[in-house]
Amino acid sequence: MTSSSARSTPKIIDKTSAQALVELTPLEAAQQFFKKAAENNELHESIQRVLANPYREISVHIPLERPPDGEIDVIRGYRVQHNGARGPYKGGIRYHPEADQEEVRALAMLMTWKCALVNVPFGGAKGGIAIDPNAYSEQELEQITRRFTMAVAHILGPHRDIPAPDMGSNAQTMAWMFDEYSKRNGFTPAAVTGKPVELGGTPGREGATGHGVAVITAAACENWNIPLENARVAVQGFGNVGRFTALELQARGAKIIAISDITCARYDNKGIDVKHEISRLDNGGTVYDFKTGDLITNENLLSLECDILIPAAIGNVITMSNSDKVKTRMVVEAANHPVTPLADQDLRSRGTLVIPDILANAGGVIGSYFEWTLNIQQYRWGLSRFERELDETILKAYRHASAHFKEEEKENHSFRQVCYDIAVRRVVQAILRRGFVHPPKGWSLKAPKHPNGEKHAQFS
Ligand code: NAD
Repeated sequence: MTSSSARSTPKIIDKTSAQALVELTPLEAAQQFFKKAAENNELHESIQRVLANPYREISVHIPLERPPDGEIDVIRGYRVQHNGARGPYKGGIRYHPEADQEEVRALAMLMTWKCALVNVPFGGAKGGIAIDPNAYSEQELEQITRRFTMAVAHILGPHRDIPAPDMGSNAQTMAWMFDEYSKRNGFTPAAVTGKPVELGGTPGREGATGHGVAVITAAACENWNIPLENARVAVQGFGNVGRFTALELQARGAKIIAISDITCARYDNKGIDVKHEISRLDNGGTVYDFKTGDLITNENLLSLECDILIPAAIGNVITMSNSDKVKTRMVVEAANHPVTPLADQDLRSRGTLVIPDILANAGGVIGSYFEWTLNIQQYRWGLSRFERELDETILKAYRHASAHFKEEEKENHSFRQVCYDIAVRRVVQAILRRGFVHPPKGWSLKAPKHPNGEKHAQFS
C-alpha cells in the first residue's frame, strides 16, 4: 500500500549525500509554480499578492452521535475559495481522513488554474471532510453531508460556489447536498454537479474525469510518437477516475497491465480485462479479491516497466525517494499532485514526459460545466453529445498548451509550468478587466509570448 503520510509534511531527502533536497508540500508546490508563472508573465508584485492566497476559507465542525451509546464525534469540514474572477467558485469535496485546511487550500488553488486552462467560466474552490467514509454507515454519511452543507450553505449557490464529488464522495453525496441546499433556497439542481442522472445529473459526468484522462493520453501519445495500440499502461487507483481511465484506454487499444486500490495492486503482462474487474467490484470486494495476474504492492506498480504510468489515487506517490525507479515514457497525472516538483524534475531529466494534473484530470470540471449549464437552461444532452463536447473542449486546451510547450521546451520549461503560465495569465486578465484590482501605476500585462494560441482564450 502506498503511504500517504507525507501528504502535508515537507520531507528532507538526502538522495545524493551531496545535497539535501527538500520535498515541497502540495501547497508549497502550487505556490512555487504560481510564483514562476508570475515571473514568466512579468506580473507586478502587488498582483501576485492577490493570487498567492485564497479569497475565503471556512472551517466548521460537524458533531455526530455514534452508536451504540450516542458518544459524539466532532468531525472537521473545510471549504476554501481561492479566486472567483472568471466565474463562480467550483471544486470537489473530498472525504478523506487526512483532509485538512492546508491540503484543501492547495487543491482550491489548483482548481483556479485548471478552470482557466481549459477555459470554463469558473473560479477555483475545494472542500474536504476529515473522515474515512468506509468507517461510517450510509445514514451517518448522509447526516455528515447534510450538516456540512448547512454549515457552509451561505457561501454556496449556482452563481457563487458549486461543489462536486472528489475522492471518497460520489453522486449520492451530491444528491444529499442538493436536497439540503434546496430546502432553504428552493429547487436548485445547478447548486452542485456530479448528481445522479435522475436529479439533473448528465449522462457521461460520472466517467468524465477518466474519459478526459484517456483523451489527453491518446493526444500526447500521438504527439510524442508512442503508439497507443498495445501500449503497456499501469494505473494506480481503481476508484472513479482510475476505472474510467483504464476502461477508455483499453477501448482505444491500450493494454492495461496493472491496476490497484488501497489494498494492493495486480499485475498481468497479458493485460487485464478492465470491464470484467469493474463488474466484480460492483458486487463488492477489492482488488485484493481479484484472481487476475500477480499480487504486487502499489509501490511495485509505480516501478513497473511500461509505456504509460497513470497515478489516479492520492497525492505525493512519486517523490525523490522512488522517482529513479519509475520506468515509463509518460506519466499522466490523473490524481491531484501525485508527482512532487523534485520528482517531476528528475523524471524530465531522464526523458519522461509528465502531463500535469491541471490538464490531465480536467475532464471532470468540464463535465461539471456542461451539467451546470444544462441545469440552468433546464435542458438535457445524451451521452454522445456530452462526450463530443468534452473531447472538443479538453483537446482545444491540450493543443493550445502543447503548442506553447513546443516553443518553451527550448527554454527548459516543463509542460506543467507552461500550463500554469497560460492559466495564471487568463486569471489576471479577468481580475484587471473586472476592476477587482487596477494595474499598479506604470505596469501593464505584457502581450503573450506566443500570441497565436491566445485566440482560444475567449469563453466558448
Ligand atoms: P475514489 O475515492 O473514487 O478512488 C480512489 C482510489 O484510490 C481507490 O481505488 C482507493 O482504494 C485508492 N487509494 C486510496 N488511498 C490509497 C493509497 N494510500 N494507496 C493506493 N491507492 C489508494 O477517488 P477518485 O474520485 O477516483 O479520485 C482519485 C484522484 O483523482 C484524487 O486525487 C482526486 O482528487 C482526483 N480527481 C478526481 C476527480 C473526480 O471527478 N472524481 C476529478 C479530478 C481529480
